[in-house]
Formats: sequence, structure tokens, C-alpha cells
Amino acid sequence: MKSNSQPAASPITARRWQAVLDRDASLDGAFVFAVSSTGIFCRPSCPAKRPRRQNVTFFADALQAEQSGYRACLRCRPKAVDGNPRSALVRAICRYIEQHIEDRLTLSLLAREFRRSPFHLQRTFKNVLGVSPKAYIDAVRLRQVKQNLQAGHDVTTALYAAGYGSSSRLYERTAAQLGMTPEKYRRGAVGALIRYTIVRYTIANSPLGRMLIAATDKGICAIQFADNDDQLQQGLMREFPFATRRRDDAAMSEWRVNLTRLIQGRETNPSLPLDIRATAFQRRVWEALQRIPRGETRSYSAVAKKIGMPKATRAVARACATNPVAVAIPCHRVIREDGDLGGYRWGIERKEQLLELESLR
Ligand SMILES: [Zn+2]
Repeated sequence: MKSNSQPAASPITARRWQAVLDRDASLDGAFVFAVSSTGIFCRPSCPAKRPRRQNVTFFADALQAEQSGYRACLRCRPKAVDGNPRSALVRAICRYIEQHIEDRLTLSLLAREFRRSPFHLQRTFKNVLGVSPKAYIDAVRLRQVKQNLQAGHDVTTALYAAGYGSSSRLYERTAAQLGMTPEKYRRGAVGALIRYTIVRYTIANSPLGRMLIAATDKGICAIQFADNDDQLQQGLMREFPFATRRRDDAAMSEWRVNLTRLIQGRETNPSLPLDIRATAFQRRVWEALQRIPRGETRSYSAVAKKIGMPKATRAVARACATNPVAVAIPCHRVIREDGDLGGYRWGIERKEQLLELESLR
């Protein structure tokens, strides 16, 4: 027989009780439940035995439960600051999206990656952030496209690097978001003067080839290697097609000296002002690379661990491969775990030569 002292449950209370019965972790952080027979309050997912319904009171948060005289459960720690697995999950998803923005990201892919049902993942994400994963992906992509266009990349490159498979799709989807076509956005944003110089390097009798150093008035924006001047100039044009590019050996002579000193290990303070565009993730990787001492190497996975994302080894490798400034950001110091040199944007021989030179001193 049913007790009629029990007040009729409101829909919210009924849903909360169901969440408690289900140990629904997606609602951790949304409310706590307190148990009058024990004087303890818990988060919905607490693994402890379920109390009787008539002993349970719901509170919006831990503070309210405490003010009513309850103590926090030691098992599920409903007060732990970082202990909300729901928002931790969403943070992890956001990071994953930022790291994999070049890939084809779908709800089902995210669901597989985070071992949740697409429905559960979508609901949790929306509850915490107020937008769907898809809207978040779009926002990250748009930001990336803007950065790429502002950096002077051509539209196709800018779109591709932001994870848009085909440019026609971006025109449809983001012309509206940008308020103009990507072409127009880029033209308006670009026009910077880029000065550059070309240096010939020979290291320990083996030519490193020719190095181009390019800078805006804010700092170095590109350092590239190639076998001849033509390749270098084409490389710069591909990277900054709408900037004004001017060879200016005199104006660049100071950079030239600094870079030479850096490569030869005579530079005491190797922090050169850089003017580069990066995603938040690239920036973290590149900063970690700048802290690898000369003469040492790290594995891709060690760098991933260093930035607190041990699973992001592939994304780290990708960030290395897109490093715009050779040597200044020493991506050549990152190698594979098994000792294999891995890849290098400017050719594996140059990576080998740079490492050799650094180990000599
Ligand atoms: Zn508990």
C-alpha cells in the first residue's frame, strides 16, 4: 500500500529521483540529494546503496544541502571543485574538437570517442554549454578560418586547414557568418608588408640549403628552408599571397644575425619576437617546443603529456608539421618514441643536420 503522507511529486522531483535510481552521471552538478536517515548528501551518480524515497530531499547544490544540516558524502564527493564529471566531460570534448578541427567531426564520432550514446553526449554538452556540439564545432571552425584569412592564407588553404572538406560548402555556410565572402574578408584583413631575406647555410660541411626569414613589423612570421631562392619565394607567396612581399636584405640583417647565432648555439636568449597565427592548441605545443633545451630531443608523446593531453600525440605531430618558423620554434627536436626521426616540414635531412649540429656543442 502506498503511503499517502508522501506529497505528490513534481515532474522535476520525479525526474531527479529517476536520475538517482539510474545513477545518471550526466546530471552530476545539476542537483544533489540528501538522505535524512544518514544526514549525508550525494551527487546523482553516487555508487552507494539507494536510500528509501521518503528519506530523500533534493537540493540545487551542495551549499543548500549543507545549510540544511547535511554533510557531504565521502564516497562521491559532491563538493569537489573539479569533481563534476559532467563538465569535465564537456571540457574534454571541447579540447578534442579543437585538436581535431581539421578532421571530419560528427556527433557519432565524438560519441564513439567518449564512449557515450550520441543522444547522451549531445544532451550533456547542451546542458553544460548551452549549445550543441555541432554549433561548437562550427564556431571553432569559423574562428580558425578567420585567423587563417587574416594571416593572408588563400581561401582554399584557410578552409581546408579549418576542416572544411570543400570550399563551396564554406561559402554557403560561413559567408553569412562572416557577413561577407571569405575572399572579401581576407582582402580587407590583409595588406601587411612582409620583408624577407635569404641566407645560405652550410653546417658541418653538409648544406642545410637556403633559408628564408620573413618578418612583419611585429616580428618574424616565417622561417623556411628550400634548395633554391625560387622555391623559397614561391613558398612565401603560397603562405601570404595577398601580403606585400619585399626582399630587403638590409632591413633584415639583424634578424639574419640573430638566426645565425641561434642555429649555431651562440644565442644566449633565443626568444625572438614572432608574429604568427595559431590555434590555442598549436600555441601550447609550440610553447612546449620552445622549452626543449638545445642538444635534447623529446618524443611526440612526451610533448603531448607535457601539455596535459597525453592522448594527443597525433595532434602534436600535426602542430609540428604546421610550424611556420623553423628553428625559432624548434620542432626538429621532436622525434618518435622509438628514436626514428619522424617527419620534418622541410625535409628529414635538414632535421638530421640541425640535430647533429646541436649535439656537437
Ligand atoms: Zn555519495
